[in-house]
Amino acid sequence: MSASPLAARSLSVMPGGVNSPVRAFGSVGGDPLFVREADGAFLTGHDGRRLVDYVMSWGAILLGHNHPTVAESIRRAVERGVTYGMTCEAEIELAELVVELVPSVEMVRFVNSGTEATMSAVRLARAATGRNMIVKMDGGYHGHADCFLVSGGSGMATLGIPGSPGVPAELARLTLTATFNDVESVERLFDDHGDELAAVIVEPFFGNAGFIPPQEGFLQRLRSLTTERGALLIFDEVMTGFRVQLRGAQSLVGVEPDLTTMGKVIGGGFPVGAYGGSKDLMARIAPAGSVYQAGTLSGSPVPMAAGLAVLRAAQEDGLYERLDRRSGMLAEGMEAAGSKCGVPVSADHAGGMWGFFFHDGPVTNFSEAKQCDTELFVRFHRAARELGILLAPSPFEAAFVSDAHTDDIIAETIDLFAQALARATAV
Ligand code: PLP
Repeated sequence: MSASPLAARSLSVMPGGVNSPVRAFGSVGGDPLFVREADGAFLTGHDGRRLVDYVMSWGAILLGHNHPTVAESIRRAVERGVTYGMTCEAEIELAELVVELVPSVEMVRFVNSGTEATMSAVRLARAATGRNMIVKMDGGYHGHADCFLVSGGSGMATLGIPGSPGVPAELARLTLTATFNDVESVERLFDDHGDELAAVIVEPFFGNAGFIPPQEGFLQRLRSLTTERGALLIFDEVMTGFRVQLRGAQSLVGVEPDLTTMGKVIGGGFPVGAYGGSKDLMARIAPAGSVYQAGTLSGSPVPMAAGLAVLRAAQEDGLYERLDRRSGMLAEGMEAAGSKCGVPVSADHAGGMWGFFFHDGPVTNFSEAKQCDTELFVRFHRAARELGILLAPSPFEAAFVSDAHTDDIIAETIDLFAQALARATAV
């Protein structure tokens, strides 16, 4: 693969040549991908090569790129003007749908990204409890707001960054870190700081340290512990919402958080985030209440139309069963490829989300994830890309399937995974 002519141009005008760090492909050492267009399950690069896409805009695309119904809704909305800075019916319709679908959400506020959703949810939790400290999980990623840049996953894990310069130590001290799937690590923090903890924020299925499902009882204990100790439970469903299940991860695990943050799928590919919870809590948000949070472009008609089109289509019978079956086939296919090549592979899936580690035995938290064979991942990633398959350029990211990933595409991918692993292990 030779460097794209766009590489030098992008590097001269954008830091690292990108607008979000993982897109630089630094950790797999390959060239960044410059995309010309996307359709269905495929991306076409500026070099004209088509790749089967398992990144799907980092989970934002649920039905497939350029889905005809969604594209038509967007076109119709554009014709009526792209932003009004006033309330429109589409935001009310999307809010009604979210409230109908997500078990714990009675009222919702739309924002413009997942980061805005999570930072606003934490502000609300601090206001509601009168406490300042929060607990997040080691390797959990909740966007780039100051309070989350402590032991983060996703790009921070990929780049090996423990925190970020520019985050005042005084703020970082307010964020404590526990271990995913380790109830005692959270209980210890409550023993030491119980009266100061405003909230526990958690991705109910980890997706930014690789894909790691919750173990039975973990999220249930977070629920009871936070209730007992007067803190709020925030499920960050920016990635899992409308992706692992129509009604979110909370409906899969049967745990209702106090606040839910959403993003990605909810915007149908546009920059939309949302946070919601009980009417009591949400009534604290301005102008109903005094917790300030605002946005010039929040709830704009085109993103709302895109989100509505996706969520309406997602209610079609059988979608999540299809996604779950296909992500399951990919996870099994990776494990089978591993057995064939004599390499330990631990893979798992839920709905349209899946992932694998080159690791012996199940991975339950970020420190176990970090023990996976990252060098083999780099070789495998490159080989898969050469064969026409795009995976996220890091072992610490989940993979995604959309409804456009047909059984035939999945079967072909599984064959190519086996070939890619054979190449990656042949060195
Ligand atoms: N929360 C989770 C679980 C995420 O995966 C992400 C992004 O990947 C975010 C929050 C931040 O969302 P955004 O990138 O839209 O700001």
